[in-house]
Amino acid sequence: MADVSFREYAFQTRAVRAGQVRTPEGEHNEPIFMTSSYVFDNARQAAARFAYEEPGNVYSRFTNPTVRTFEDRLASLEGGERCIATASGMSAILTTCLALLKSGDHIVASRNLFGASVNLFSNILGRFDIETTFVSLVDPSTDAEYWRRAIRKNTRMLFLETPANPLTEIADIPSMATLAQTHNSLLVVDNCMCTPALQQPLSLGADIVIHSGTKYLDGQGRCLGGAVVTRDPTVADEIYGVLRTAGPCMSPFNAWLIAKGLETLHLRMQAHCAGAFELARWLERKPQVNRVHYPGLESHPHHETAARQQSGFGGILAFEVAGGREAAWAVIDATQLISVTANFGDVKSTITHPATTTHGRLTPEQRVEAGIGEGLVRLAVGLEDLEDIKRDLQRGLEAISNGR
Ligand SMILES: *Cc1c(COP(=O)(O)O)cnc(C)c1O
Repeated sequence: MADVSFREYAFQTRAVRAGQVRTPEGEHNEPIFMTSSYVFDNARQAAARFAYEEPGNVYSRFTNPTVRTFEDRLASLEGGERCIATASGMSAILTTCLALLKSGDHIVASRNLFGASVNLFSNILGRFDIETTFVSLVDPSTDAEYWRRAIRKNTRMLFLETPANPLTEIADIPSMATLAQTHNSLLVVDNCMCTPALQQPLSLGADIVIHSGTKYLDGQGRCLGGAVVTRDPTVADEIYGVLRTAGPCMSPFNAWLIAKGLETLHLRMQAHCAGAFELARWLERKPQVNRVHYPGLESHPHHETAARQQSGFGGILAFEVAGGREAAWAVIDATQLISVTANFGDVKSTITHPATTTHGRLTPEQRVEAGIGEGLVRLAVGLEDLEDIKRDLQRGLEAISNGR
C-alpha cells in the first residue's frame, strides 16, 4: 500500500522518505533484507500465514521488506495505488501481459517501441495466440484516430512509450487514455524515458505505468530491475498474483539500489534535461548535422504536446549527420569520454548507432519506415561537464569535414 502519511508531501520529499519502515534497531538508512524465507513463532502462526489469515512475510518470492520499500516509494512518486517490483523492465511487461490477457486477445502497440518489447509482443506472445497490431506515432493530434482504426472487438490493451526511442516521438497520453476507455481496453505507458520526475502518466489517464529500473531510476548503471504501477488495486492484485507464482521478482539488493536511486532522481533528471537541451541547441548549429531530434527544440514536430504533458524534455537526443553510416561511425569512434553502449539512464553519457545496433534487426524498409537513417546517432546525456562532452563530439564532427 502506498504510504498514506506521505501523500501531503512534495515529490522530492516523497522520493527521499516514502516507503521506509524503521526496524527496532533504529537505523537511519534503509536496511537490506537479504533473506529468502522468514521464520514463524510456532506452527499455528505458520499455518495462519499460509492460509492468509494473518498478514506477514512467508517467502521472498511473495514479499520482502526492502522490495516493499522500493515499491511504496515508486508508487508514491507515480501517484499510483500500488507498485509491483520485477526482475527487469521486460519482466514487468511480460508479467502485466500474463496477468491481464488471455489467448485470443489483441493488443494495439506503438511501432516506436523498445526492440525487446516488439519482439515480446510479436514473437513470444504471438505463440500464445495474443496478436499485436503495431501503429506508428506520427502526429499527436491525429494518432488516436489511426489507433482507433486498429482496435478490434478483442482488443484489451493499448501499449506505448513516450517519448519514444531514439527519435523522441511523443504520444498524447490523454487522447490515448480516452480511446482506451471508450473501447474497454487498458492504456499501458512505458515511462522509462521521462520517469515520474518529468511525467506521470497515471495523472494523464493511463491505467498502468511500466518501468525499467535499470535506466534512470537506479540511474547509475548498477543493476537490472523493473516495476508495474497501477491506479486500480484490483489490477494490481492480478499482476501480483502472477508475479508471486511465476517468480520474476526483484532481488532485495537491487530493490535497495534502486530505492536509493529514487532519492536523487529529481536532481539527476533536472541535470540530464539541462545537459540534453544545451547539447541539442549546440548540435543544431553544427554544419555537419542535418537534423536534431529533441522534444525541447521548437523545431521538434511534437514539441507542444511534450511541453503540455512533461515537466522536462528528457536526457536523450538523436542527431543525423551528413554522410550516412561512415560519418555516424566516425563521430562515435572519435569519442574518448562518452561510452559506446546502447544503454541509457546512466550518469555516464552514452552514444550509439541505432541503425546497426538497437534497430539492426529491422529490414532496411522497416528502418526507413521507422525513420532510423544510416546517419542517425543517439546520445544519452549523462552528468559529466558539458564542455567536456562537446569537445568529445567536436572531434568526430571535424573528422567528417576533413574526410570530405
Ligand atoms: C530498457 C528498456 C526496457 C527493458 O528494460 P530491462 O530492464 O532492460 O528489461 C523497456 N522499455 C524501455 C523504454 C527501455 O529503455
